[in-house]
This record gives sequence, C-alpha cells and structure tokens, in this order.
Amino acid sequence: MEFEAVIGLEVHAQLNTQTKMFCSCSTKFGKPPNTQVCPVCMGLPGVLPVINKQAVEYALKLALALNCKINLKSIMARKNYFYPDLPKNYQISQYELPLAEGGAVEIEVNGIKKKINLVRIHMEEDAGKLIHDEKQPYSYVDFNRAGVPLLEIVSSPEISSPEEAVAYLKTLRRILRYLEICDGNMEEGSLRCDANVSVKPKGSEKFGTKVELKNMNSFKHVERALNYEIKRQIGLLMEGKEIVQETRLYDEATQTTHPMRGKEEAHDYCYFPDPDLIEIQIEESLLKRLEAELPELPKIKKERFLKTYNLTPYEVDILIEEKSLAEFFEKTVKIYPNPKAVSNFVLTEVLRYLNRDGKDISETNLKPENLAQLLELVEKEVISITIAKQIFPEVYERGAEPKKIVEERGLVQESSEEKLKGICEEILAQNPAEVKKYKAGKKGLLGFFVGQVLKKTKGKANPKVVNKILTELLEK
Ligand code: ADP
Ligand code: MG
Ligand code: ZN
Repeated sequence: MEFEAVIGLEVHAQLNTQTKMFCSCSTKFGKPPNTQVCPVCMGLPGVLPVINKQAVEYALKLALALNCKINLKSIMARKNYFYPDLPKNYQISQYELPLAEGGAVEIEVNGIKKKINLVRIHMEEDAGKLIHDEKQPYSYVDFNRAGVPLLEIVSSPEISSPEEAVAYLKTLRRILRYLEICDGNMEEGSLRCDANVSVKPKGSEKFGTKVELKNMNSFKHVERALNYEIKRQIGLLMEGKEIVQETRLYDEATQTTHPMRGKEEAHDYCYFPDPDLIEIQIEESLLKRLEAELPELPKIKKERFLKTYNLTPYEVDILIEEKSLAEFFEKTVKIYPNPKAVSNFVLTEVLRYLNRDGKDISETNLKPENLAQLLELVEKEVISITIAKQIFPEVYERGAEPKKIVEERGLVQESSEEKLKGICEEILAQNPAEVKKYKAGKKGLLGFFVGQVLKKTKGKANPKVVNKILTELLEK
C-alpha cells in the first residue's frame, strides 16, 4: 500500500518593532536576562496593556502581501494556560476574529509552482525563555522576550512533502524580509515553525490523525523531523497500529522525534476576549497607505528579472534572495548595461566576500559605480579578469576606485604582441617536453602554456593575444 503525507505549518514570526506588543520595553535580542521588563510584561496586577500600532501595521503589510482577507474589526483574546515562562498565566493572542484570514503563499519545487492556501494570520505576544542548566537542580527564567510581538501564520493542510514544507518556509521568510517586518533569523528564534503532519493511503480523501512537531528553528530540522515522522507513521499503519494525536519534539542528536505531551484542544485554553483591550478597528485609508508602501515582492521581482535581464532562473533566484542585493545588481546594470557580466561577478566574487563576512551588501563599502567601472575595465581589455579579481577585495573593503588602483600599481593589461612574444618564447623554451607532446597532437596543452605566461606576467598579459602568439609559435 502506498501512503502520502499531509502537512500544515504554523509559523511564528517575531516582528522587528522597537518595543513590545503591549508595553514600551525594548525588544533587542541578546541583552542580559530580565533587563527589558516592566510591570505590564511581567504580568503584575493592576496594569493595563496598550497595543503597539507599529506591530498592527506590520501584520497588515504581510496580510496585504499574501492577499489575505483583512478583518476590519478583530479582537485580542486571552489564551489561558500555566507555564513558568508565562507570568500572566495567559497569553494575549487572537482566537475568534483574527486580523486576517485566507490568502496564499506560492511555492516552487523543482520548477513546479504550487499555491499553499492560508487559514489565518493572527497577532499575539511571545513568552519568556526558560534556561535549563543541567548542572544545577533548578532552572532560570528570562522575561526579556515576554511580550515581544509575534505573528502566527497558519497554513492549510496542503503541503505534501518535507521539500514543499521547506520551500514554503523559505518563501515566507523571503517575503517577511522584503517587507522588513521580521529579520527571519531562525537561530535567534525570530522565525519558528510547528509542523503538523499526518499520512493517509494515496488518493484517499480522509485525513489521518495528525501529530504536531513543536518549535523547530532551522530548515534542516524541519525537513529531517518531517521525514522521520512520516516514516514512523507509515511504519505504525503498516503494523496495523493507530497514530496517537500528540505533540512531539524533534531531537537533532538522534534525528528522531519523541512524545512531549498529549494534544491540547482549543477549549482547554478557555479563550475569551481580553477585557483590557478594545476591539481593533482598521480604517480603509490605513490599508491604502500600507498597500502603497509595499515593496516589489520576490515573485514579481523574479518574473521581471527573468524578462529584463536574460538570466537563468537559478541566477535570478540567488540575485533576488536579498532585496538589497537585487537593488545593488540593478543599480550596477544601469551604469554598466551588461547584466550577464554583472551577474557572473556578483554571484561569484561579491557573494564569496559577503558570505565570508556574514554581511549584507548594504553593510559594505562596495558601490555600484565601482563594480561597474571594474567590469568596464575588463571589457575594454584595460585589465584582465584575473587582475579584476585580484583588486576586487580593495574595492569591496575600502570602497577604492578600480581605475585608481590600476593606475597606481601599473596593472594595465599588456596587449602588445611585440612585448609578449619574448615571454611566450621563453615559456616554450622552458617546457620542451610539453611542446613535444603538443606537436604530437595534444592540443589541449595550449591552455597550460597560456597559464604559464599569465603567471609570469602576474596576470597582466592579455590572454587573447597570448593565445594568438603561442598558437603561431607552436604551429610554425
Ligand atoms: P489545532 O486546533 O489542533 O491546532 P488546527 O485545525 O488549528 O488544529 O490546525 C493546525 C494546523 O494543523 C494547521 O496548519 C493545519 O493545516 C494543520 N492540520 C490540520 N489537520 C491536519 C492533518 N490531518 N494533517 C496534517 N496537518 C493538519
Ligand atoms: Mg493550532
Ligand atoms: Zn514591558
């Protein structure tokens, strides 16, 4: 019997507002424990929460970007449960009447596009963080994160494989980053994912019992946990056993999942509208303004890049991953209109240094006009691509002007046949065995000779001219 997986994801995205959801405490990550707290987010008696307008606007931007139906009236609700990281004993969230419903995320796996519909997007506050020190007989609690604004984005159970789940997460992360409402940093927990998964006989209409995998914070973990869990569930069904509806945790060390707790039901939380907070009313004029502020989204940008620049989908995907890199690429092409050359250099050299430094292009000294100038020098054969790569680190690190570096160091390419001929003859004289082999038919050795000449001239020789001279000398 063949089985198929059904997956639905609940993603939590931390909004990068300056302050928390209902108080003015800072949301900065990594500060000493319990230094960013106040009576409101500590849940002391008698305090009154006030909603963060910026957080609501950010949530609306995502809802607009994903074509959700926005509820012009929505309510904040209390979700009641006890846990040491939750000082109020309830989390302020949304239940009935969330901020937005419907909408979709369009994913692409192996060139095939698929629309994953959304159930809802709602706003809530984050809980604090427990720190378990294994050497001590007690645990610590840090409330700095308590009250940080979160969006919960709930997908329909329309994801069919771990690969699709990862594609969905990556697509959503890119949109959040384009909107500049969440940094998408999974290591710091700004983006977290609960995955619901069940299996059913292939083609069957009826869904199987689902298991929830809690709080995964990397794409790898999501993929591995789902793969393991799908196999585990299929194994149980093959043995004629039943799947228990429960919440499980993924353990990276063993790459398996284990039970955490029985599945809670919505009624366990005794949801009710938070009496401290008034109904949220959204005005049409606000939506109009936010709509106008939306950036060009990744999907549209990709289509436009493919149409405008004659690049491969693979190249475009990398260029548009970060909005800032895509902008840098376009600015460079405006000055030096050779998209292929710019793309080649950005995808190799520029990205190599950005990855090395863990930086965004906007945090470096690289300017579009300088990259344009560098590539123009190559095209005009003033310098070779080897020299361009050699001086690039200075252009990138110091913001130096390529023309100046080339002039100061005398790096101008040598194209004079007269000057290069001597060196070519020298190289051939130094490698008699290779020359013999070449003359016996091993023409591929030409590349070797060219390489030797370039080495000798420290990359300054014009490879085209060297090629020509060597061929003439060897064929004589
Ligand atoms: P709960 O009330 O248990 O949290 P929801 O209906 O709110 O369940 O759904 C939570 C998530 O689980 C959603 O992302 C949804 O797509 C997904 N889901 C629901 N049913 C299934 C199922 N049978 N298999 C896999 N995922 C499911
Ligand atoms: Mg749920
Ligand atoms: Zn506070």
